[in-house]
Amino acid sequence: MPIIMDGKELSKKIREQIKEEVKKLNKKGINPKLAVIMVGQDPASKIYIKNKSKACSEVGIKYEEFILNENIKMDELLKLIKKLNSRKDIHGILLQSPIPKKLDINKAFEEIDIAKDVDGFNPINTGKLLQNKESFIPCTPYGIIKLLEEYKIKLEGANVVILGRSNIVGKPLASCLLNKNATVTICHSKTKNIEEITSKADILISAIGKPKYVTENMVKQGAVVIDVGINRLQTGLVGDVDYEKVKNKVAYITPVPGGVGPMTIAMLLNNVVIAANNIEKI
Ligand code: NAP
Repeated sequence: MPIIMDGKELSKKIREQIKEEVKKLNKKGINPKLAVIMVGQDPASKIYIKNKSKACSEVGIKYEEFILNENIKMDELLKLIKKLNSRKDIHGILLQSPIPKKLDINKAFEEIDIAKDVDGFNPINTGKLLQNKESFIPCTPYGIIKLLEEYKIKLEGANVVILGRSNIVGKPLASCLLNKNATVTICHSKTKNIEEITSKADILISAIGKPKYVTENMVKQGAVVIDVGINRLQTGLVGDVDYEKVKNKVAYITPVPGGVGPMTIAMLLNNVVIAANNIEKI
């Protein structure tokens, strides 16, 4: 039987540490605060921001949300970001994706002050990560690295295959793993012979958003499988991995829910505390 990589348990441990960090900051008169912007009424985003708000309040991080009408103009969104950049009581700013297609999300990410960019999506932070310089690391890749480290999975020299090349998961994750000396291959919708590539992976990470896409014939015996996918079916949440079948073949696997998801939120809280600490140093 494989070892189940328990993201829920590890995130609990990290959140306990964050709570202590927040208390220390409070004693110095700093009250870490996260501002979340959501545009429109995407139902999944509503759940995500509710979870973020709850997680903040549990560790003592202050939280303020800005729900904008889906018809908002780009300059109004940028104006709000500028206002939040200048507010001294706000340490972290997060723009919940997706936003309506007519708005330019990359332009919005560019506007977020790099010192408050707790999601790490400002291209300056992205570039720093690529160059292995200190920066905010996007929360999902950061959470995956923490989970791999907790279970002492050797990254140096490991053959890692990532399914998915999005700016929020696949690409920054590849940078994180390269920075840890792994050999990284990224597959996407145009990749040929995916099974041939995935079945050679020591560590296979799927972030494509296709329910039960990864089947047992796609994984190597004894591999580590990380499932980032969150797919809402009528029967409930499932990942990208056909968990019941794949688990019999691998050494380590993350469940959905309870794997990568809770780690993402824990690393967001972590990044807000880093931002609050950095502001103190300025
Ligand atoms: P995304 O922006 O839609 O990107 C999906 C990626 O998968 C794209 O690069 C796409 O390739 C690739 N892809 C799609 N179908 C494929 C196929 N059949 N074979 C190979 N590659 C394929 O998605 P995302 O935002 O990265 O999210 C991916 C999944 O992770 C979603 O289920 C999302 O809900 C989940 N997620 C979970 C967390 C968490 O905390 N657990 C955080 C973020 C996202 P192209 O580039 O060629 O189109």
